[in-house]
Amino acid sequence: MAKVLIIGAGGVGSVVTHKCAQVPEVFSEICLASRTKSKCDAIAAQLKRKISTAQVDADNVPEMVALIKQVKPDLVLNVALPYQDLHIMDACLATGVDYLDTANYEPPDEAKFCYKWQWDYQQRFQEKGLMALLGSGFDPGVTNVFTAWAKKKHFDEIHTLDIIDCNAGDHGQPFATNFNPEINIREVTQRGKYYENGQWLETEPLSRFETFDFPEGIGPKKIYLMYHEELESLVHHFPEIRRGRFWMTFSDNYLNHLKVLEGIGMTSIEPVNYQGQEIIPLQFLKAVLPDPGSLGPLTKGRTCIGCLISGIKDGKKKVYYIYNICDHEACYREVKSQAISYTTGVPAMIGALMMLTGKWRGTGVFNMEQFDPEPFMEKLNLHGLPWVEYAGDLSGIKL
Ligand code: NDP
Repeated sequence: MAKVLIIGAGGVGSVVTHKCAQVPEVFSEICLASRTKSKCDAIAAQLKRKISTAQVDADNVPEMVALIKQVKPDLVLNVALPYQDLHIMDACLATGVDYLDTANYEPPDEAKFCYKWQWDYQQRFQEKGLMALLGSGFDPGVTNVFTAWAKKKHFDEIHTLDIIDCNAGDHGQPFATNFNPEINIREVTQRGKYYENGQWLETEPLSRFETFDFPEGIGPKKIYLMYHEELESLVHHFPEIRRGRFWMTFSDNYLNHLKVLEGIGMTSIEPVNYQGQEIIPLQFLKAVLPDPGSLGPLTKGRTCIGCLISGIKDGKKKVYYIYNICDHEACYREVKSQAISYTTGVPAMIGALMMLTGKWRGTGVFNMEQFDPEPFMEKLNLHGLPWVEYAGDLSGIKL
């Protein structure tokens, strides 16, 4: 029996609130707080259970501290934006409450993300006897747990890791992003980066692609190499990994729109003066693009996110592929969101459940792969994200 304070009432906040509400034996009390309280109230109205809601600017640490003192949660579950991470961690330290998020910190004025800022909180969380769990979404999150599972069950040594994220869904809009447009476009337009033989190697944005034949009827799709945050923690915690890469599918339509928007400066985060007012083009673009939350009823098709791993087991070479398939329309029927928010919100709830039930405990700042993957894998199957270990022939796969 525990009380959780969820921060952020966007696409992911909505799913995580629905999923926590489905597990009253652990999440006996839920408070959902965000910058715009009416969004919290709209989510609360969809639930069969009563939850409380509140308004908070999570960048204002004293305001966050006051809310935590009033709500008295056992855990703060942060599904606002990456910009808020450090402020919410500061408020947790000030009030003595555990912390969880789904994306690592990013400074608003620089399109850069890395774990250093949050790993630097290690000593402060340890000294207070508190736990912070970082990146409990799908990728990062489940992909880290898949890697830990592969290491525990299938490999003596992992040599290569390819995380492959496919959204084979269609929302019918000319151009839209499936999660926060500002964060999504910042991520996609940065330089590609991967890890090989102890070094980080860079590529031009989305310049490297391959074709991957996805299972269960999804079929072949172009996958593009890009940098993703879980690579940093995974090669740190599994130093045996010789090559770690992240790939994502994009439709030609998405890439064409993005190219034009970039070409005319609409994805820039440099402020420009417009009629006497300073505006950031990317933030303006976000304001005119469809709200990812509105794509829920429109999106059809499935996602397929997984890890393709090679290495050694009992002295022999081995290739292994583990994935989840998630259906956009089924997610909408269950929690009124599309699969991107669903595949993030479910693992956020499970990560919180691991902490609150004592299955995953420790003091300090942790990434998902540092804990025993088994209880988490078991809960994925129970709470809507069943995983599959590919049983077909993988010998022909060349990436
Ligand atoms: P949305 O933009 O839909 O929602 C963000 C929410 O945070 C909004 O309700 C917003 O409020 C609120 N918010 C923003 N700033 C503040 C603030 N200062 N104080 C309080 N609330 C604030 O984003 P998503 O739901 O799509 O994404 C949420 C998080 O999940 C992001 O960090 C994203 O990077 C992460 N993510 C992780 C994935 C993974 O697999 N690990 C995949 C997808 C997303 P308002 O409505 O007023 O703007």
